Amino acid sequence: MTASRLARILRVSIDQDVCCAHYLCQGEAPEIFHAVNGQWAVRLHDDIDDQALQRNFRPVIRAARCCPVSAIRIELDDGRRLDGDSLELGLLLNT
Ligand code: SF4
Repeated sequence: MTASRLARILRVSIDQDVCCAHYLCQGEAPEIFHAVNGQWAVRLHDDIDDQALQRNFRPVIRAARCCPVSAIRIELDDGRRLDGDSLELGLLLNT
């Protein structure tokens, strides 16, 4: 088992300064990301707990990879901080 396989998501965030509301992240991980009615914006659901994060490990990684402006930030419990430009995202999907 690799270190990546043991990694857990601690936190997910969206850089609202660069998010352009493409909604691709919502398509990948609807339990984590949602469009805001009447606004050109995407937010995290309010009730995301640790179980939801771990259950959505791969969807969140896929969302970060497909975000065209790398607005999604992922913090892992091993100290890694990743965004859409992080090559490690692809490796995590293969663990
Ligand atoms: S895919 Fe990226 S730019 Fe599009 S809504 Fe999600 S965070 Fe924002």
